[in-house]
Amino acid sequence: MRWFNHVAVAGSIAAVIDPGMVPLAMLGSTAPDWMEWIGSTAGRKVKHRTVTHVLLTWLTAAAFFLLVWDFRGWGVAFAVGAICHWLQDSLTVTGVPVSWWSDRRTTLLGGRMRTGGMGEYILSGVVVLACGLAVFMFRAPDTGFVPFFRNWPELYREGIVDGAEWRAHRFEWF
Ligand SMILES: [Zn+2]
Repeated sequence: MRWFNHVAVAGSIAAVIDPGMVPLAMLGSTAPDWMEWIGSTAGRKVKHRTVTHVLLTWLTAAAFFLLVWDFRGWGVAFAVGAICHWLQDSLTVTGVPVSWWSDRRTTLLGGRMRTGGMGEYILSGVVVLACGLAVFMFRAPDTGFVPFFRNWPELYREGIVDGAEWRAHRFEWF
């Protein structure tokens, strides 16, 4: 899978859950690949789609960030991005390992996709469109209010928050 598609898919899925997750999800969406690269430059040759591509590792990380500790939800966003990466790679012919004991790689939906082929771009397009639609539909119909984005200037104008509160929050977009 191309990085462009990893970033596009993880970014739009994160936008549906919480736009604040988007940057870290995008970073995480390419992590399984760039971690191989870091490992290799650090002198430990990491084979492609092995240790950094184990689903169980990323699920464990996500569970840890959800249940034990996280910083502003960044950890879980990163892990969600990496899980998206795994799911996308699992659609390709080569497949990816599920657990630390996997002696073979798993493919989903027949693993018919070829890296760099048309298929992955079409898939990304569909996911991005669906997520865009979801974000659009979750808005309250009368106000156009997107629940994720607290619209501070609007609240101020409507007199719901006072001036001090508005000044304190005006640069918070999420
Ligand atoms: Zn990969």
